[in-house]
Amino acid sequence: ALTIGIVGLPNVGKSTLFNALTKNNALAANYPFATIDPNTGVVALPDERLKKLAPLVKTEKIVPATVSFVDIAGIVKGASQGEGLGNQFLANIREANAICEVTRVFSNPDIVRDDQTMAATGGKIDPAQDIDTINTELILADLQTIEKALPKLQKDLRGKKIKQEYYDAVEAAQKILEDGETIFHADKAGKINKDDLYDLHLLTAKPFIYVFNVDDDQLHDEALHVKLSELVAPAPALFINADFESQLNDPDLSEEDVKEMLEADGLSESGLDALARVGFETLGLQTFLTAGEKEVRAWTIHEGWTAPQAAGVIHTDFEKGFIKAEIVKYDDLIELGSYEKVKEAGKLHLEGKDYVMQDGDIAEFRFNV
Ligand code: GDP
Repeated sequence: ALTIGIVGLPNVGKSTLFNALTKNNALAANYPFATIDPNTGVVALPDERLKKLAPLVKTEKIVPATVSFVDIAGIVKGASQGEGLGNQFLANIREANAICEVTRVFSNPDIVRDDQTMAATGGKIDPAQDIDTINTELILADLQTIEKALPKLQKDLRGKKIKQEYYDAVEAAQKILEDGETIFHADKAGKINKDDLYDLHLLTAKPFIYVFNVDDDQLHDEALHVKLSELVAPAPALFINADFESQLNDPDLSEEDVKEMLEADGLSESGLDALARVGFETLGLQTFLTAGEKEVRAWTIHEGWTAPQAAGVIHTDFEKGFIKAEIVKYDDLIELGSYEKVKEAGKLHLEGKDYVMQDGDIAEFRFNV
């Protein structure tokens, strides 16, 4: 499964956020969640549609799609030099499919920043500086990867085992990193195609998500949000009060209580739900739905997958023996109220093997065994 690694300097609220994420039961009591190991949390992708579909098809069982987060501790200045937990840290990031960077914006005189950052900033809260510290370590690690690879690439180039274009792309990447830019950002800016560099497994080529851990009064500070969003654009920026999110997880709170607490804070969804959603999109994933008496379920596929590929997620036999997909649009089913009525209205679509799955498709597959 694809995972999102949570990274950040010490004392920014990573653990608070991660613990809140993985104990996110209060919002959806019947959503399964699992902890594979202490550092991995599997959380439900929030999807209101499942709740609306369940009574229509007379089931109580709802199975949401999931998003996996890994808590990656240990980034400090010098991590790329293999100091302290540095090597382990980089190895863990290498395994993640996206990077979620948590940055402290909240001020609390009782909670100091770590000693190194304190020394660098005189204790001031400085999100831009913190992001720079982390990204510099990732960039240095990538530069090491490239420097190690270059002698062999030069030899391969002379021996015509690799194309000149590939070699040039690696050199362009080196230049970008030397200028202090991540490959992700350079790719988005059209300066380089990160897919050309796939073989190098560069850390900064992974998609980034930024979580700014804010105070209550910063939660709706538009000017602050704009400033910080611009700092990390085009990566998505989320503004979350990790402390508040962890309070929402109190098992004594009902779904209604949580809703009220969110509304009192002027929020339409929890920060954690937003993070799960943005994380899912950042990984290039989407869902399709199945709805029957047994269960209502969201299945995870990659954007652009065809009907047989989607069928294969349910069962490999469905893909091998694929004949047709019966597709009902979620909006049509909700509007018309039953499969029967959807059929009568001529809105049940039969799709073949080239059909590309769309968000909101409710599918049933016909297959040969
Ligand atoms: P980590 O080292 O990044 O994992 O940070 P922790 O999650 O352990 O948080 C460090 C300290 O900051 C703890 O005492 C938390 O209670 C506190 N903290 C975390 N998030 C917030 C927040 O949003 N607001 C405030 N005021 N304190 C927070």
